[in-house]
Amino acid sequence: MTRLVGGHVSSAGGIRQALERGDLIGASVIQIFSNSPRSWKATPVSLSGFSGFGEAMEATATGVKRVVSHVSYLVNVASPDDEIYQKSLRVLCETLAFCGEIGVSAAVLHVGSHRGAGLSARLGAIRNAIDLALSGSRSVALLLENSAGAGDSVGSSFADLAAIIEAVQEPERVGVCLDTQHLFAAGCDYRGSSGAAARCLAGELPSGCVRAIHLNDSKVQAGAHLDRHENLGAGQIGIDALAALICEAPLAQADVILETPGDGQGPRRQDVELALRMVGMS
Ligand SMILES: [Zn+2]
Repeated sequence: MTRLVGGHVSSAGGIRQALERGDLIGASVIQIFSNSPRSWKATPVSLSGFSGFGEAMEATATGVKRVVSHVSYLVNVASPDDEIYQKSLRVLCETLAFCGEIGVSAAVLHVGSHRGAGLSARLGAIRNAIDLALSGSRSVALLLENSAGAGDSVGSSFADLAAIIEAVQEPERVGVCLDTQHLFAAGCDYRGSSGAAARCLAGELPSGCVRAIHLNDSKVQAGAHLDRHENLGAGQIGIDALAALICEAPLAQADVILETPGDGQGPRRQDVELALRMVGMS
């Protein structure tokens, strides 16, 4: 099976435009925001006008084979504040239902912050949110993203994510999206060592659980607990360590999605080409 490699693209204008932007940078997988990443507003009409990704894909003859969505950054299903939790629940449910309608195969979620309450105190609420969102959507997978560990964010360890996956009703529909920058910033310094993926995952996740990788270099040092993406090779991690990590067994099948800044407009064609070389596909 060939591996899908691509990046995050703007969905301004609709899914067709997003596919075209993906095609321009040579992506076989794209990630989009299906609603504004920093607002509570529902899905924009420009995106909901499409009956399906399959139809749009045919219409544009694009090289994009898969679309994943990133859930709004505001969503915090770990929040002990009931108003934030209820809003988060609504946006998560809407996003997954919408993804199912347009043929997006998976949605990536930052679980959020428990604000000092502790994961075990919030695990039931997180599980309920995920169960409800999955039951209201057809066939969409939810991928939990590891965090850089700022504040009281859930997911800076894979044990956190494993505990959530174990708790939900449909664990087969929940996987992990591993962000290489968050992993490094959370304190796993995987430079210069082989077997880093296995060591960083520490056997916490079932095999095949990591279905997508956010491939990013880091502006900040290992253990800085900050979410700061950098272009590949321009940051603290470097090409060699990133390439070694994403080609190791637990990660070697996962889709590779760049979230790098490029020149300010996101991943460029040269970045996707570099990523393809890193996984030995060009
Ligand atoms: Zn990410």
